[in-house]
Amino acid sequence: MKYISTRGKAPVLNFEEAMLTGLARDGGLYVPETIPSFSDDEIQSMADLSYEETAFKVIAPFVGDCFSDREIMEIINRAYAGFGHSERAPLVELENNHFLLELFHGPTLAFKDFAMQLIGQFFQFSLERRQSRVTIVGATSGDTGSAAIEAFRGLAAVDVFILYPDGRVSDVQRKQMTTPSEKNVHALAINGHFDDCQARLKDMFNDFEFRDGVNLAGVNSINWARVLAQVVYYFSSAVKLGAPNKKISFSVPTGNFGDIFAGFIAKKMGLSIDRLVVATNQNDILHRCLTSGVYKTDKVLPSISPSMDIQVSSNFERALFYAADCDSKKVSALMDELKNTGQFKVSESILEKLQECFVSGRVSEEETLSEIAYSYQKYSEILCPHSAVGVFVGRKQSDADVPMVTLATAHPAKFPKAVEKATSIYPKLPSRMADLFDLKERITIVENNLQSIESVVRERIQT
Ligand SMILES: *Cc1c(COP(=O)(O)O)cnc(C)c1O
Repeated sequence: MKYISTRGKAPVLNFEEAMLTGLARDGGLYVPETIPSFSDDEIQSMADLSYEETAFKVIAPFVGDCFSDREIMEIINRAYAGFGHSERAPLVELENNHFLLELFHGPTLAFKDFAMQLIGQFFQFSLERRQSRVTIVGATSGDTGSAAIEAFRGLAAVDVFILYPDGRVSDVQRKQMTTPSEKNVHALAINGHFDDCQARLKDMFNDFEFRDGVNLAGVNSINWARVLAQVVYYFSSAVKLGAPNKKISFSVPTGNFGDIFAGFIAKKMGLSIDRLVVATNQNDILHRCLTSGVYKTDKVLPSISPSMDIQVSSNFERALFYAADCDSKKVSALMDELKNTGQFKVSESILEKLQECFVSGRVSEEETLSEIAYSYQKYSEILCPHSAVGVFVGRKQSDADVPMVTLATAHPAKFPKAVEKATSIYPKLPSRMADLFDLKERITIVENNLQSIESVVRERIQT
């Protein structure tokens, strides 16, 4: 399986190379040259499989011959062994035909663990056999960083640096990043927003001297291997609800468009998905773009669902690529326009294609809080604010005959203040991480400029 850039000017890579690289050298994102698909019979047979076995079926065709089947199976088994639920991604019914897919049973209580634990194991296998080491940098609005640190802490071949916006992540998120004591873990508090962190990350990747000097690797949601890991739970949940004989819709709280894009790939692979619902908070660039065709960045408004406080939605470029019939010239032109003017407008035909696949909705802060309260009263279900955004839009976009699955992207204890405000209940951390608040933090504040960040990285890497 070969991987090509959405902008068409980067080297063609195999799965392992695309995973180790992250961002393509032309600024684009890697996508598979072709998307494998399953017959209905093959999908049907997944109903009898464990989560890990389904993961193998979905992931193996994209890996090609980079890893043997036995290695892939072992990597998958190790990745999910530390999850707190035997089903990994259990489904819970909220009300008639509206389900919650609980993606928060991993070690850092957010769905990011599904991808990060998997690529941690892939990296370990790969670097060991290459006898090389890498410097991983990631930008986070909170959950990616804690998931990455948890996945890579203590690995001999990796230094991991996470840029997070100072003062804009929850206490639990920050503690999960700043308390691991391993020497290869570095959480850097950047004086800015998530979009600043993401921009500096991209700058580092575009500084080729630095990039090659420290052997930079990216694990942000632009990394293809992360998208791939997320495709699995669309399959595992849809077959439980009757796919391929029934259509299923999904509502996905969305920021960087990684999780929902995985649903798009699942659909392309033959899964009977009806609607893919993009649910945004008040930072609604995706909702605006999907309704008007204009993608225009605005100021980030900090919200109670901070993991979606994003105005530059990186993975959306992949959706544009497919909506433009894989025309990398069109994608490059749009991304250049965005860089130069802060906005672009897609053509009628691209907008039509996007709207064929995605519907969207925006949820205000008050609506998010009232959804948390309502879900608690009505279903005795305590939602995190991101999941509440998903449930709210999912209910609006649901269709009586088609099951709607809302992705519950984080555990409520990760965002206790909003939950307490809505329900008067302060959600507790699961017992396996109850000592988090007693651990010592290491905090490093770094200025929001490329040079300062690069020099901290250079100083700290273990060569
Ligand atoms: C990252 C995150 C999201 C948004 O996911 P994207 O793949 O960036 O769209 C939603 N909810 C939570 C809890 C997250 O951590």
